[in-house]
Amino acid sequence: MGLRWKLTLLVPGLLALGLITIAFVAAEQERGDEEQDLRMRSLEVLEAVSVAVSPHLAAQDYSALATLIGRFFDVQKEDGLRELYVLDPTGTVLAHSHPILAKTRAADAFSVRAAKGDSRLWQHEGSFLSVAVPVEYRGYLGVVVAKYSLGDVEGEVARARLQWLGLALVLWLLVGVVLFSGIDGWVLQPIAELQDAVRLIGEGELSRRVPPLPGREMAELSNMVNRMAGALESERDNLERSVDARTRELQELNSRLEQLSVTDALTGIYNHRRFQESLASELLRAHRNLQPFSVLMIDVDHFKKVNDLLGHPIGDELLRQLSAVLGQCLRKSDLLARYGGEEFAALLPGTDKQLALQVAERMRAVVDSEMNSGAEWPQHISISIGVATWPMDGQTKEALVASADAALYEAKHGGRNRVIGTATAA
Ligand code: GH3
Ligand code: MG
Ligand code: MG
Repeated sequence: MGLRWKLTLLVPGLLALGLITIAFVAAEQERGDEEQDLRMRSLEVLEAVSVAVSPHLAAQDYSALATLIGRFFDVQKEDGLRELYVLDPTGTVLAHSHPILAKTRAADAFSVRAAKGDSRLWQHEGSFLSVAVPVEYRGYLGVVVAKYSLGDVEGEVARARLQWLGLALVLWLLVGVVLFSGIDGWVLQPIAELQDAVRLIGEGELSRRVPPLPGREMAELSNMVNRMAGALESERDNLERSVDARTRELQELNSRLEQLSVTDALTGIYNHRRFQESLASELLRAHRNLQPFSVLMIDVDHFKKVNDLLGHPIGDELLRQLSAVLGQCLRKSDLLARYGGEEFAALLPGTDKQLALQVAERMRAVVDSEMNSGAEWPQHISISIGVATWPMDGQTKEALVASADAALYEAKHGGRNRVIGTATAA
């Protein structure tokens, strides 16, 4: 059972219990007051009766006594008087408002006690109050006894109880409404808000905050939850920032690695692997667009001599300079790679045989002039180039490279420093 239901049952329940108890206690108080009042009134009446009957009792005029008792009874019965009688000191009934009851009265315990006549007496028995007052006239003559019904008193008490209960009900409603709205506003609502916020924070909504709550304890609690959420949020932000930074570093590292994996370490141009990849994708594109493309295989003439005469480091330098010169002769969309050793390969997309031969020739000519202008090499530096074009010279990667190689071979054998478009030897 939730707190709301517990409070809903407990608070009004306790309140109702308290108010009903108060109503009953107040009604009992009313009964005491009414009884006391009746006792006083009855004593006054009996005093008067006692004075009135004393001469008749002294004269033993019992018929006058009976008449008097009858008259008093008639007057007082409105006030709840049920019996009125006179006893002599031996307990004999001398006169009775209801002669038929005279016998039983002589025997009952209260009458016996009253007949002793030493003082005023009263007794509450069931819903009746019995009162006795001695009659004195130059000595003790007897006792006047009255029996009053407490029915009126009970009626008063019942009425009072009903009034108090009505009042309690009104109070219960008023206090209950005030109390419950107080509990709702000060306890239940703030707890619900706190619960909501903590649930959302727990589900990861760390920017969520508990709104200001009434009451010192709830305010402290909401502050603590907010501080906790703030700490978690900044921790998460830090973590996200450092993960972002690490991810960026890794991406940079990856792209560098990727770059390195397709770059030739000596010359800085693409390597054999990248050439093969580009050739494969170019072949697919050519098939799709039905546009020709060309492959150039480029080899340095008598390169071995450079190594032999000047050493490998100078040979390396030559390869670096040559790759730069070759790169200048190509378009952005073309690809230049070091095929291996002192051999280079170029891929010319969208280039037919005629245009490819022009490009190759320009390369050869530029190398021929630029690589020899400083004259730092032991020989005239030149290149031979074999050209193959898709689709006429080969339909596959391997066939195209083989055709270009064959053309290169022919260029070598034809005297080097030249471009051959299609091998005839094969
Ligand atoms: P040809 O005109 O027939 O091509 O003669 P060549 O001397 O250029 O050809 P050969 O195949 O006889 O020699 C190629 C030489 O290239 C042999 C090898 O030592 C050299 N070489 C291969 N890779 C490198 C390199 O990375 N650096 C240097 N310095 N030399 C290399
Ligand atoms: Mg070679
Ligand atoms: Mg060579």
